[in-house]
Amino acid sequence: MASQNRELHVFLFPFMAHGHMIPVSDMAKLFAAQGVKTTIITTTLNAPTFSKATRSRKTNSGGCGIEIEIKTIKFPSQEAGLPEGCENLDSLPTPELAGNFFKAIGLLQAPLEQLLLEDQPTCLVADMFFPWATDAAAKFGIPRLVFHGTSFFALAASDCVGRYEPFKNTSSDSEPFVIPNLPGLIKMKRAQVPDFIVDNIENDLSRLLKQSKEAEVRSYGIVVNSFYELEPVYADYYRKVLGKKAWHIGPLSLCNRDNEEKAYRGKEASIDEHECLKWLDSKKPNSVVYVCFGSVVKFNNSQLKDIALGLEASGLEFIWVVRKGKDDDDDVGKEDWLPEGFEERMEGKGLIIRGWAPQVLILDHGAVGGFVTHCGWNSTLEGIAAGLPMVTWPVAAEQFYNEKLVTQVLKIGVGVGAQKWVRVVGDSVKKEAIEKAVTQMMVGEEAEEMRNRARVLAEQARRANEKGGSSHSDLNALIEELSSQS
Ligand code: UDP
Repeated sequence: MASQNRELHVFLFPFMAHGHMIPVSDMAKLFAAQGVKTTIITTTLNAPTFSKATRSRKTNSGGCGIEIEIKTIKFPSQEAGLPEGCENLDSLPTPELAGNFFKAIGLLQAPLEQLLLEDQPTCLVADMFFPWATDAAAKFGIPRLVFHGTSFFALAASDCVGRYEPFKNTSSDSEPFVIPNLPGLIKMKRAQVPDFIVDNIENDLSRLLKQSKEAEVRSYGIVVNSFYELEPVYADYYRKVLGKKAWHIGPLSLCNRDNEEKAYRGKEASIDEHECLKWLDSKKPNSVVYVCFGSVVKFNNSQLKDIALGLEASGLEFIWVVRKGKDDDDDVGKEDWLPEGFEERMEGKGLIIRGWAPQVLILDHGAVGGFVTHCGWNSTLEGIAAGLPMVTWPVAAEQFYNEKLVTQVLKIGVGVGAQKWVRVVGDSVKKEAIEKAVTQMMVGEEAEEMRNRARVLAEQARRANEKGGSSHSDLNALIEELSSQS
C-alpha cells in the first residue's frame, strides 16, 4: 500500500484554532499511515502543536515510518492590528479582536501559493475559513478539499435553517420550530440560531461564511470527521440532496492509540498525565463526571460558581476543566470564581484542572461515566468514541446543531437548558439545572439506556476505523481517487 501511494502529496492547511488544528493533526497521521506524503502548513507559533502531536508517529510501531512534514508561513499579526504573538483564535486577548484575526487569515493566500509553487503537492485540504484556497489550488491545477471540522448533521441542518429561515415564522425567541426539509423532525428555537443569520447582519464573519459556501460549491469535495453509522441519514442527505462529494474518515481521534498520544493533543496538559490516571484509577467504573467546554468558550465568575455548586449538590465525583488565565481575576491568586471552601470540601471527590486537560486520555478511562460538553464537534465525537452519555451545554458556532444530534437523534444526552446562541461567553444556567442534568446523565434507568446506546456507537466507531470499516474504506477510496488524478 505504501509504495502505491508515494506519488500523492497532500497539503493540509488547518485554521489556527485548536478545534481545527487537533483533528487535522490526526488526519495527517492517517494519511501518512497509508503511505501518503503529507505536509501540514501552519504559522510559526502554531508549528510546535503539530510537531509534538505527530512526533510519535515516526518511531511508533503503528506508524509507517513516513514523516509528516511541517511548513510554516508568517502570520500577519501586525498587518491586521493584532498584538505580536497572537496567531491562534484561542489566544485573542479580547473577543472583539476576532475581526482582526479573520482579517489576518485573509492575508494568507499569497504565502500559501508560494508554498504550492515550491512543493507542487497533488492535493490541498484547506479549512472552510480559507475560501480563497479553492482559487489558489486551481491556479496549480490541483483539487481542493474543504474541512469544516463538524458533523454531517450540523452541515445539513445549518443549510436548511439558512435556506428556509423557519425562525421567521415564530412569534418569539423561545417558540420551537421544526427544521424544514431536514429528516427527523428536528426542533430548535430562534434564540439558538446565530444572530447574524436571524438578523441578516453583514459583518466580517458572515461575509467570510458566505464566501466559504460559494467556494465549497467550486471545490472538489469535503472531508468529514465522522463515521457513516453515526449519522447515515444526514451523510446521505448531504451527498444526495445537497449533491456534494464527501468522504467521512473519523472519528479522527481514534488514531491515537497509546497514552502518550492521547495525552498530548493540542497543548501540553496542565496536569501530569500519570497523576491524572492515578486519580481516575482510584475511582469506581462509570462514576466520574468529566466537565470541559473546549478551547474557546469562557464563562463568567458567577456561572463558574453555579457550575461548582451544581456539581457539589449532585454528590457525584468529577473532573472539571476551567480555562482561567492567570490574569482573569482582579486579584491574582484569589480565585473569586470558586465558592468559599469548595476545594477543601471536594478533596478527593473533585479534581479541578486549571488550563488544559488531556481530554481523550480522561474520556477513555473506565472510571469516567459522563461528559458535560459545550458540543464542539471534536469533543462530542470524542465522547461518542468513548461510549459516554452527555450533558449538552452549547454556546456558540454550530454547537446547538450538534446538541440536537446528541439529544434528539442519537438520544445519548440531556440538555442542560442553554437557550441562547452567544459569542464565546456562555448563556447563564443555574446550579439547580446543572445538578438535575448531571444526575439525569449518571443515575437511573434513563442514564443506563443512554449509556448503552452510547456504547453501541463507540463500538461502531471503532469498527469504522478498522480495515474494511466505513471510515477506513472511505479514506482509501479518497486516496485512490486522488492518486488516479495525480
Ligand atoms: N481539548 C483538550 N483539552 C482541553 C480542552 C480541549 O484536549 O482542556 C481538546 C478536545 O479534546 C478537542 C478540542 O480540544 O479535541 C476542542 O475542540 P471542540 O471542537 O470540542 O471545541 P472548540 O475548542 O473548537 O470549541
